[in-house]
Amino acid sequence: MIAVEGVIKRFGAHTVLDGVSLTVALGEVVTILGSSGSGKSTLIRCVNGLETLDGGRITVDGLDVSDPRQLAQARRLSATVFQLFNLYPHMTVLRNITLAPELVLRRPRDEVEAQARALLASVGLVGKADSYPGQLSGGQRQRVGICRALAMNPRYLLLDEVTSALDPEMTAEVLAILGKLAARQSDGAGTTMLFVTHEVEFARRISTRIVFLDQGRLIIDLPTDQFFAADGGLAHPRIRQFLSKMA
Ligand code: ATP
Ligand code: MG
Repeated sequence: MIAVEGVIKRFGAHTVLDGVSLTVALGEVVTILGSSGSGKSTLIRCVNGLETLDGGRITVDGLDVSDPRQLAQARRLSATVFQLFNLYPHMTVLRNITLAPELVLRRPRDEVEAQARALLASVGLVGKADSYPGQLSGGQRQRVGICRALAMNPRYLLLDEVTSALDPEMTAEVLAILGKLAARQSDGAGTTMLFVTHEVEFARRISTRIVFLDQGRLIIDLPTDQFFAADGGLAHPRIRQFLSKMA
């Protein structure tokens, strides 16, 4: 389980996360919604240990990410895909995927390459193993980014607006892949996800829970059905306002 407890994060005088608490249990797909600047990316970065906390605590399967030794272990449990494709431009697609499993997890190259090829096939990129990132479309690059994260066999997959730099067609490609990953959750075999997106309708389809961040405060945390129910999340003026702007 990822447990975020009373987290406070400040940048100078600006409190960006103001006592945020949230859990993500195994098998859950938890989507974080919120306006631009509400603190979504900062929260993901805190879970990764990429930001130091000014208060509160974050644990991943009990490992405290504020402790460098525990963070190193925690990072093996989760993998993150960011908004902008951060593939290594001078390495092939295959090498981009196999590098970390080989170097960090010290898994044998043959095994990792076989897995990487299977992952590429699963996202419709079987012919692209030897291409370079610059030769791919944005949607293809983002699919490689997802493969690279999955090659670490993470227990938790963190996704920060992985489609926001893509056009609608490429967005659809990438969401289709994530939908498949999420669907595996129901039989208990898939990857647990903490998902930041502006794709509200998609979030509604794949999430088990939706949380809403408003100026650094987590004001709603509900099962998806209840989030969209008139007497649930929609009873909250701030949520109605947010959703009406999305539509
Ligand atoms: P978006 O939907 O636009 O991606 P977000 O919800 O992800 O927004 P964050 O990127 O978490 O928002 O930023 C939250 C607030 O923290 C913003 O006001 C932002 O300007 C500020 N912020 C983020 N990173 C830093 C930083 N390194 N230094 C100073 N301020 C920062
Ligand atoms: Mg962001």
